[in-house]
Amino acid sequence: TRKIGILALQGAFREHSQALESLGCEVAEVRKPGDLDGINGLIIPGGESTTMGKLLQVDDLGEKIKRLAKNNLPIFGTCAGMIVLSKNIEGSDQYRLGLMDVTVQRNAFGRQIASFETDLEIPALGQGPVRAVFIRAPYIKNVAPNVGILAEYEKKIVFARQGNMIASAFHPELTKDRRVHQYFLSIVDEQLAK
Ligand code: GLN
Repeated sequence: TRKIGILALQGAFREHSQALESLGCEVAEVRKPGDLDGINGLIIPGGESTTMGKLLQVDDLGEKIKRLAKNNLPIFGTCAGMIVLSKNIEGSDQYRLGLMDVTVQRNAFGRQIASFETDLEIPALGQGPVRAVFIRAPYIKNVAPNVGILAEYEKKIVFARQGNMIASAFHPELTKDRRVHQYFLSIVDEQLAK
């Protein structure tokens, strides 16, 4: 079985655990560097990206994640996790891992529609729309050529892939559809087969 780590410093990590367990994964909650040992993939959940960034600096947890990413550890960031993964954050110097060559805009959908749900077409996940829950979500403003766009909402990039890393602006752990997590696990399996 695959062992997937979930960064559990703060935020929506329990729902990701349940999603992964329903797909037959062993789950390891990650709070300190040693918790990263032996995992085959890592999820960085939604929450509050500045708080998460501060906690990632404790005991150099973030530095260890960066080293593992350079060795092709598959990583999936959702919402605040997308912000933490990105290289550039519009108007902010908050801590980030800087692993994905993207520029994100935080809280990007405005105050009135801070949180909403919509159906997204995601060709990489096959037929049928994916219900996507956005909560004070970021979006990706710019991507480098090595980043693939998996989904857009109103011309804003909300799901992207770079090598073994994916990032979604929405929260796939909050719906019953498991295709996004399955897609991440297919990346984990490809990496394990190498
Ligand atoms: N607005 C949050 C941030 O900027 C992200 C919101 C979320 O993860 N649901 O960190």
